[in-house]
Amino acid sequence: MRWDIAQLVENTDPNWIIDRLEEMVKSANGLAENYRGKIIGLDAPGLLALLESRDDFSLRYEGVMEYCNLKYSADSTDAVSKKLNEAAKKAGTRVGQALAFMEIELGSLLKDKPILVVDSRLSEYSHYLERIVCRIPHVMTEELEKLTMSKDQNGVSAWSQLQGDWLGTRTFKIIVDGVEKMMSYGEIISLYQSSNRVLRREANRVVYEGLGGDDQLWASAIRSICGDHLQMCEWRKYPTPMTQSLIDNDVEQEAIDALMQTMEDNVESYRRYLRLKAKLMGLDKLGNWDIVAPLSGDTKKRYTWEESRREVVNAYTGFDTEWGEWVNEMYGRHHIDGEVRNGKRSGAFCASWLAGKSAWVLQSFNGQMGDVYTQAHELGHAVHAYLGSRHQKPSNNEIGSCIAETASVFGELLLTDKLLEETETSGEKRAILANVLDEFGMSAYQVSARVFFEQSMYDAIKDGQFLDGDTVSSLWVASRDRIYGNAVEWLPEMKWEWTMKPHYYIPNYRFYNYPYIYAQLFVFALYRLYKEQGKAFVPNMRTILSAGSSRSPMKLAVEVGFNVTDEDFWSKGIKQFDELIDQLEATL
Ligand SMILES: [Zn+2]
Repeated sequence: MRWDIAQLVENTDPNWIIDRLEEMVKSANGLAENYRGKIIGLDAPGLLALLESRDDFSLRYEGVMEYCNLKYSADSTDAVSKKLNEAAKKAGTRVGQALAFMEIELGSLLKDKPILVVDSRLSEYSHYLERIVCRIPHVMTEELEKLTMSKDQNGVSAWSQLQGDWLGTRTFKIIVDGVEKMMSYGEIISLYQSSNRVLRREANRVVYEGLGGDDQLWASAIRSICGDHLQMCEWRKYPTPMTQSLIDNDVEQEAIDALMQTMEDNVESYRRYLRLKAKLMGLDKLGNWDIVAPLSGDTKKRYTWEESRREVVNAYTGFDTEWGEWVNEMYGRHHIDGEVRNGKRSGAFCASWLAGKSAWVLQSFNGQMGDVYTQAHELGHAVHAYLGSRHQKPSNNEIGSCIAETASVFGELLLTDKLLEETETSGEKRAILANVLDEFGMSAYQVSARVFFEQSMYDAIKDGQFLDGDTVSSLWVASRDRIYGNAVEWLPEMKWEWTMKPHYYIPNYRFYNYPYIYAQLFVFALYRLYKEQGKAFVPNMRTILSAGSSRSPMKLAVEVGFNVTDEDFWSKGIKQFDELIDQLEATL
């Protein structure tokens, strides 16, 4: 259950590692010396040589950087880990600074010679270059860019910092098991998942009553950040408040419009699930504090590491034998760290290892069903890395948020079907299904309300409305109700829910939200197609995952025969969601 990250480097002696990091910085400086000020004069072969040498550079030093990062994630208390992590971070920053000129000079070159984007000699990099071209019209003069950076430091960045610090220092009084406790925000939110319904309700009430008490502060922050964004859209010539995020995520407005329309047209599916969940919990109606609560009678089943391995490998093998072999190899070559221990980073992640054509996964495995799901999820990312590293250069492996979760969530659905097949009791079946349906509900439907809310704030500012706390809350409640209707009972304090969502305050992160919906509905739609077409669908999935970031999500979809600007495609995802609800209903 421990990984063997020594495979990443030729030598694990800390001095050797530090020397290697130094060599990396020197090599980056060498690249800079060769190219600084000269990119503007490059022809197609010259540009190809530059892009290839930068890719070679990143492959050459990927192992040593990853070794330092992973070692620190696995044990942040170890002195050597700390030292190497610091050294790697510093070296990474120096490389970033040394090579920062490239993106700027590439922009100037492509502005001058746009024909390079379609030059056949650069075909492997064409989409990478296209994406640089998309940004060109929105870059300001060097002086204005510098001014913007210093304005942001004391403007949007400071507001975001204040929101985070303020939230982090709030305390909440609550009675737990007859004892009065003062809890931080981080502590009290764990009570939302309590099996005690009264406690869940009270935790929600206490938190949002407390946060609403500071509405002046939250409203000032969100008003300034949204107002700043609208002004910057004018400066940068973005036609709509969403344009910047569309460019960052490599997606088109038409696709997002079709996606959001599908969500809104199908709110009844979610409401049906919420009503069914209420029934399963023996309630007339869910309270907002019940939406993601565990179903009573949830599975108590525990899995050993070997059992989990078997389930996950079988789930992937059932879809594609080679995927199953890769997943099995991740266990066999000790690329997964599942041991629970002190000093280890919490949560789970998968890091691609392009040079080794593999990946590394970290999680804390306690044997619960959720841990098996996490394993399947992260190993889906690993499969994505196995395919991406075999077919694409590093520059084409920068996968955007809309596509990044494709293999991982698909893997969760494969596991779901596998577990349902083997499960006999209706209690366990319910736990498995509710787990998947809750996740979809939160990532697709709940986040849709957040997209509506964000859009409504920009619209309100443009209409000349002043966003005080109550106005923001009324926009929040209106957006929320577009999704939930009357399927859920909300505590009145929940109108302050927008105050705590850090994403709304993060600088340059406008419309962070729709990629979550895209990712979920995209995978559910693909899974539906797999169910309809069977084995014939497998090559399509391989095409999508092998493409990395070499094509836009829209082009990629066209290649495998569907249209993401068409609601018919997205509706397939809703059908898959409906089908899982049917299965849950059948357990009654
Ligand atoms: Zn993921």
